[in-house]
Amino acid sequence: MTEDLAPKKELAAVKGTKDILPGEVEKWQALERLARETFELYHFRELRAPVFEPTELFEKGTGATSDVVTKEMYTFIDKGGRSLTLRPEYTPSVVRAIMEHRLDLEGAPMRYYYMGPMFRYDKPQKGRYRQFHQVDIEVFGEKDAAVDAEIIEMAHALLRKLGVTGTETLVNSVGCRACRPAYGAALREAAGKRLAELCPDCQRKAETNPLRIFDCKVEGCREVAASFPSIQDFLCEECRDHFARLLATLDVLEIPYRIDPRLVRGLDYYTKTTFEIVSSHLGAQNALLGGGRYDDMMKDFGGPDVCGTGFAMGIERVLSVAEIPLADPKVLYVAYLGDEAKKAGLTLARFFRANGVECLIEFKDRGMKAHFGRANKLRASWVLIVGEDEMAKGRFGLKAMATGRQVDGAREELLALLRES
Ligand code: AMP
Repeated sequence: MTEDLAPKKELAAVKGTKDILPGEVEKWQALERLARETFELYHFRELRAPVFEPTELFEKGTGATSDVVTKEMYTFIDKGGRSLTLRPEYTPSVVRAIMEHRLDLEGAPMRYYYMGPMFRYDKPQKGRYRQFHQVDIEVFGEKDAAVDAEIIEMAHALLRKLGVTGTETLVNSVGCRACRPAYGAALREAAGKRLAELCPDCQRKAETNPLRIFDCKVEGCREVAASFPSIQDFLCEECRDHFARLLATLDVLEIPYRIDPRLVRGLDYYTKTTFEIVSSHLGAQNALLGGGRYDDMMKDFGGPDVCGTGFAMGIERVLSVAEIPLADPKVLYVAYLGDEAKKAGLTLARFFRANGVECLIEFKDRGMKAHFGRANKLRASWVLIVGEDEMAKGRFGLKAMATGRQVDGAREELLALLRES
């Protein structure tokens, strides 16, 4: 593109966002289709919530000390003076929807999935965007650790269908309100001793919420955090039991895992189980999906005491390592000569489309040679030839582009041939 024709900068997509163009979008569609199919096999149902919510929902849900809320939210005041936020994650929206519609009273299994854009004002880099897309699943009302293992197994079932290899499953428990305060105190003490080595942000976290130091991406902080006590040594009996049941169920489901006692994940609401599936094919941003249990969120929102567990998978990240087999679409190109044949071509295209054949008819007048050149360029599978003779006889030519074989026939006969090939 010459300088003059290049779009002016103000017309370019916003930093950290991108267009998903034909050629690439087919992979997205395949992923979305496979995700739906997989989740529905586990009796999940789609729940679609709005893209923006009251800011308060994320402050309360995602957590006021998380990086997502303190640094990364797209928050704005609307014309009515309300503070709204483009959702940075999906879980609080689902919890709100359940409460608002009292889905907990319906008696149906509360298993939901969703796919769509999320927004975080993070530093854009490979694998990290400001508008990115997640596949999200949540289960409510199941306390048993078996369900945590079941959703990890479901994640693997989907990743397998997407041709993702080289994954590792990391699991941990972050305890509960009974045991975490003692761990928090131990962390605060450990961080206090090495305060000078921590970044200013982590020095602040050492006071406000020392668990969040594990989220820091600064190398020095990561090294210091590696020496901190392990939460596994602080779990209460209930959390220890829950974790043991998680591991036992993963064994039953034959999912290999590694316990990572530093896996606290960046959101404040987790209780007991946390997990991530990471890819060995990726660098720094290697988490394909992450999730865990959040038993207190609905109660904290002032709703019923219904526990929850779930995960969010990053679509961009998964697609960067997926090997999805895609079949080229078979297209019938309609080649016509003259105005009358153009009308007949349109009617024929309507007939074939109604019978499930993808057809392309373009409306620039072309000679037959130009039509074939165009069909070749577009890699059409067949060309339908509509000229005056053909219209008079009600029989049309059909040429298979791969073999060069051409036959004549009435439209029903041609349809039968197309269906056979
Ligand atoms: P989280 O909601 O932070 O637990 O993230 C869940 C998954 O979403 C991660 O494992 C990533 O695959 C993906 N993800 C999170 N943040 C971003 C981002 N800024 N850009 C692209 N993918 C992201």
